Amino acid sequence: MRSYTDAAAFTYLSLVRPELITALTANSASAIAWLTDTFNVDLYVVSRLAGHTFSRTHRDKSGAPGWAITSALMKKLTALADEPDPRVEIAKSARVVRLLEESAVVVGVEYEVGESRVEARGNVVLATGGYAADSSPDGLLAQHRPDLLALATTNGDHATGDGLRLALALAAPAAVCDLTQVQVHPTGFVDPAHPDAKTKFLAAEALRGAGGLLLDAHGARFVRGGGKEGRGERAVEEVKKHCDFYVSKNLMKRYSNAAAFAEDTGIPLNNILSTFASYGQDGDRFGTVICPECTCRCGPSARIGRQWSSNGHPINLNACHWPPMVLASLFVSLKPHI
Ligand SMILES: Cc1cc2nc3c(=O)[nH]c(=O)nc-3n(C[C@H](O)[C@H](O)[C@H](O)COP(=O)(O)OP(=O)(O)OC[C@H]3O[C@@H](n4cnc5c(N)ncnc54)[C@H](O)[C@@H]3O)c2cc1C
Repeated sequence: MRSYTDAAAFTYLSLVRPELITALTANSASAIAWLTDTFNVDLYVVSRLAGHTFSRTHRDKSGAPGWAITSALMKKLTALADEPDPRVEIAKSARVVRLLEESAVVVGVEYEVGESRVEARGNVVLATGGYAADSSPDGLLAQHRPDLLALATTNGDHATGDGLRLALALAAPAAVCDLTQVQVHPTGFVDPAHPDAKTKFLAAEALRGAGGLLLDAHGARFVRGGGKEGRGERAVEEVKKHCDFYVSKNLMKRYSNAAAFAEDTGIPLNNILSTFASYGQDGDRFGTVICPECTCRCGPSARIGRQWSSNGHPINLNACHWPPMVLASLFVSLKPHI
């Protein structure tokens, strides 16, 4: 808990909200127990991702924890909706379009379902997610982060910040904060069949956490990243299921070696080789800064690449998986507090 709290403070600086971090860290163990025990979600693999001081990210063996969690919860929700419980009424595929207000108090919602409009009265909790998929000219992104409007997004169509807009449209608008906080993820896959698509498929952070490096068109690194020095073969094994999935979606290609990759993409092989050779060595300016409280021997500004001693698994440029292209994409707008 201490490590997570300190890492959040280090990353978010003045934006950090201690009570939120405490809630997330203090409740994380029970939340995982709830998902594993009540919903049978397998979250037993614990891995170390970029910027973490030790392994603390739970996921399932398939490597797609988001899907494992979402599908288990949806299954349960569907079952509940089909067997009505007198305590709860579930409206599926409904879209809230208005908050009902009386004397400056929210007393319910109006929602659309099919052709109908329905009013539901009672306390309201807004949980409609972020707005990173809203690139409309008068949308929240245009308003708060116009500099990001041109970027693609890895969000689903639903992430248009409806709850925020509804709350801001009240006669007494809700107080909001942190609306400028939008996370840009460095790796949205460019689908060769739809290179200009506004919505991109996310290349999981696990790829970089396991040791994947991001190279530019010249074969040079351009951002921090790459979790683990000397983990070539083991890293490929760690994210094999991810890679198989991406290959099946034509988002990633499998090459027998770096030379084949270089030939296919036109990136000079020598540049690729020298990038990998210099990874984690002196002069590698893209090492990752670690948490200041890290107990590892190298101290605050150590690079992960250098901080971990080689484990006897040198980077192997044979039998690698290489995505043809990735692009920075809007990942999530942080969930603002209302
Ligand atoms: C590709 C991808 C991968 C991710 N991977 C991870 C990960 O590995 N680990 C991690 O911790 N986080 C991950 N995240 C982030 C995480 O998914 C989000 O932070 C989280 O889902 C936000 O939860 P939420 O409940 O606030 O919103 P959401 O999960 O977006 O849920 C909002 C819900 O509200 C519904 N809704 C929206 N508008 C309306 C309306 N008007 N009326 C009715 N319903 C509405 C939507 O349909 C949706 O079901 C990932 C995000 C993306 C996009």
